[in-house]
Amino acid sequence: MLTIKTFVFNPLLVNCYVIHNHKEAIIVDPSCYDENEQLQLKQYIEQQQLEVKHIICTHFHFDHLMGAAFTCSTWNLPLSAHKDYVFLAGNFDISTQSMYFGFSVKNPPKPKVLLQDNDTIQLHHYTFNILHTPGHSLCSISIYEKETGIVITGDTLFEGGVGRTDLAGGDWQQLLHSIRTKLLTLPEETIVYPGHGGQTTIKQEKLYNTFLG
Ligand SMILES: [Zn+2]
Ligand SMILES: [Zn+2]
Repeated sequence: MLTIKTFVFNPLLVNCYVIHNHKEAIIVDPSCYDENEQLQLKQYIEQQQLEVKHIICTHFHFDHLMGAAFTCSTWNLPLSAHKDYVFLAGNFDISTQSMYFGFSVKNPPKPKVLLQDNDTIQLHHYTFNILHTPGHSLCSISIYEKETGIVITGDTLFEGGVGRTDLAGGDWQQLLHSIRTKLLTLPEETIVYPGHGGQTTIKQEKLYNTFLG
């Protein structure tokens, strides 16, 4: 069975997910900001005796990467991100982004594992499909695991909401297109784990998400 541990980190309340099975783990959105949050993440991994295999960011926004430098160095792993992150990274790196919002965040290591649509990531016998879902950011991905019926949607789809599109690389039409073609087409019982806020299902969002009507 796949275990999904949710941490809500930093003042912007980002969901950081530790997904694990048979002592192998994936960390999604390493967003721990202060020492206390870093410790929470570290203690959990240690107590569960997990071997971290992948550190993935759903998109290249500073709030989702506040703890990336710490996480990648602690577990000695590269950062995985969608390949189009480079279009945001130039003059608008994570540290610069964070300053605009009044935070001080260390730049993460340059992503060495570049993901694209249809890539798969293996965790023990579970296969995670990378879905490129641009719109909130051009490098936004969702991460789908079919057998368990879960999808991690970053800031693309929320419970009753969708991601903002007014930041660099955002595009409203593209966002709606991504959600309609890549997410709402998943089985209705699929549980959605968004980048902020609580869980939902594809069915619930099809029925009640007023942004998608
Ligand atoms: Zn974002
Ligand atoms: Zn966010």
